[in-house]
Parts: sequence; structure tokens; C-alpha cells
Amino acid sequence: MSENSQHDKSQESAEREEKHKRKSQKQKEKVDAKVAKATIEKGVMIVVTGNGKGKTTSGFGTVCRCVGHGYKAAVVQFIKGKWDCGERDLLEGHGVPFAVMGTGFTWNTQDRAGDIAAAEAVWTEAKKFLADPQYHLVLLDELTYMLGYDYLDKEEVLSTIANRPENQSVVVTGRGAIRELRDMADTVSEVKEEKHAFKAGIKARKGVDW
Ligand code: ATP
Ligand code: MG
Repeated sequence: MSENSQHDKSQESAEREEKHKRKSQKQKEKVDAKVAKATIEKGVMIVVTGNGKGKTTSGFGTVCRCVGHGYKAAVVQFIKGKWDCGERDLLEGHGVPFAVMGTGFTWNTQDRAGDIAAAEAVWTEAKKFLADPQYHLVLLDELTYMLGYDYLDKEEVLSTIANRPENQSVVVTGRGAIRELRDMADTVSEVKEEKHAFKAGIKARKGVDW
């Protein structure tokens, strides 16, 4: 390589470096300006809905963050998961109370009255958490179905969430969140399925799926 072309090359790379620096600086200024604009301190309502995997795991991830910082969190599960739910075993050991829908829930046996009674029993527990400012975070896992199927009184659920203590955050998970839940939330994420292992015949795995 001639001396000239070597010189050109190093100049080219210095220019590229400089351009990258300028771009990053601009980006940083934009982000800083946005951060400076976010001045409101309050608990938030997060809805994680959609047909892809990751809604409940996201909710529990947030509970872990909360507990990791020494705050109190509570978990309400509106559809009884696998009895040996890994998160429950771990988090109960860290003082996180769980309210789990009893065995009365019978989607497929058409026992609507039984379903409603089970939903109302667990909702009574949820209301206690949603009225207690000691809880920094309440996870309402699979609540969306209770409203989608009219198992709980919609107005009561929405107003209880809206009137929770100011610094309390709430995560609502489940497919098919109704419009009112999305409208009142501060953050809404729609998890979209692109593919799922189950559809390729792979069994749900302990420690991964529950
Ligand atoms: P996860 O608990 O893994 O975060 P999720 O809360 O997003 O999943 P749910 O609709 O509550 O999803 O489903 C609960 C169970 O079904 C989990 O074991 C999950 O792995 C599995 N699952 C989630 N999405 C799908 C899907 N698209 N197809 C098949 N199974 C799924
Ligand atoms: Mg789920």
C-alpha cells in the first residue's frame, strides 16, 4: 500500500469516528431532553396482553425487581396455574403474599355460577392489596379474562384499580384486555406470537413455562 493511500484510509476512519461521535451526542441530547420532561412521580398501571408468550413472566419479572429493592409486592392469580408454580415457591419465601383462584374455576364444564364465585373470592383478596399503600406493586395475573367473560363487575374492578394508593403500581396480564383496561393504563404492551414451541409439539417445560 502506498503511503498516500494509507494516509487516506486513516483519514477516512477518523472522519467516520467523528461522525459517529456527533451522531451519538445528538442522540444523547434527545434522550436527556425526554428524561428531563418526565417529572411525574406516581405508581403506574401496566397492561401486558396479546397472544404471544411472556405476559406472566413479565409480571413476575417486575415483582422480582420490586422485591429486590426491598419493597413489598403482592400477587393475585386469577387462573389457577400449575400447583407447583416456580415463582410462587420462590417469592413466598421472600414474604410476597399470593392470592390464587381456588379449584372452583371450571372454564370447560360450563359451571358459570361456580366460576363467578371463584373469581369473586380471589377478587376480595385482590381488593385488600389494592387498598393497602404498603404494597408498592400488585400483580393481577390473568385478570383480563375475568372482565372479558364478565365474571367480575367491570365498573368495580376498574374503579378499584383507579382509586388504588397513589404510589402503588399494578401489572395486569392476560390475553384480550378489554378497551377500558387499555385506556386507563399508563403502559400497554401487546405481546405478539411469532412462533411458539408448543405448536411444534414441544412439551411445556418446568422452570421455563411454569
Ligand atoms: P408465560 O407464563 O410463559 O409468560 P403468558 O403469560 O404470556 O406465558 P398465557 O396465555 O398465560 O401466556 O399462557 C400460559 C401458558 O401457556 C404458559 O405455559 C406459556 O408458555 C404457554 N403459552 C403462552 N403463549 C402460548 C402460545 N402462543 N401457544 C401455546 N402456548 C403458549
Ligand atoms: Mg399468563
